[in-house]
Amino acid sequence: MAEEPVLHSRRTLTLRFNIPIGKTHEFWDALKQGRFVTTKCSTCGNVCFPPQADCPKCMGDKLEWVELGRDATLVTYTYVQITPASFADSDPYIIAIGELSNGIKVLAWLEGVQPDKARPGMKLRVDTRTSKEGSPYYVFVPV
Ligand SMILES: [Zn+2]
Ligand SMILES: [Zn+2]
Repeated sequence: MAEEPVLHSRRTLTLRFNIPIGKTHEFWDALKQGRFVTTKCSTCGNVCFPPQADCPKCMGDKLEWVELGRDATLVTYTYVQITPASFADSDPYIIAIGELSNGIKVLAWLEGVQPDKARPGMKLRVDTRTSKEGSPYYVFVPV
């Protein structure tokens, strides 16, 4: 049921939360502490990423925050050499889709890998970062 992202979209790296903005602070607070979390439905146990306000499976609204896990496998990636205007200051980068061990697919930058060395199936890890502006974010790094 994972929506296939459009890799060249400027919205690529924007997490679109279907959740009131006030509730997303849990995610960002956790990320600042180096934790990678998401919502789990207390009713049916469904784990979603990005975090949701309501369970898309059973429509339940009782959700708890759980650790997502860090281990991932590279599914696909794109090397972006023409940087979109919103990332005009950044160097060329790799955007990757990694599959976590629970099957959830996550879109993020892939750091620490030369574009010609990236291979689907390679083992990755989710790492947390803080931007110069102090905003937390997450990336994939090779294991
Ligand atoms: Zn908070
Ligand atoms: Zn549910």
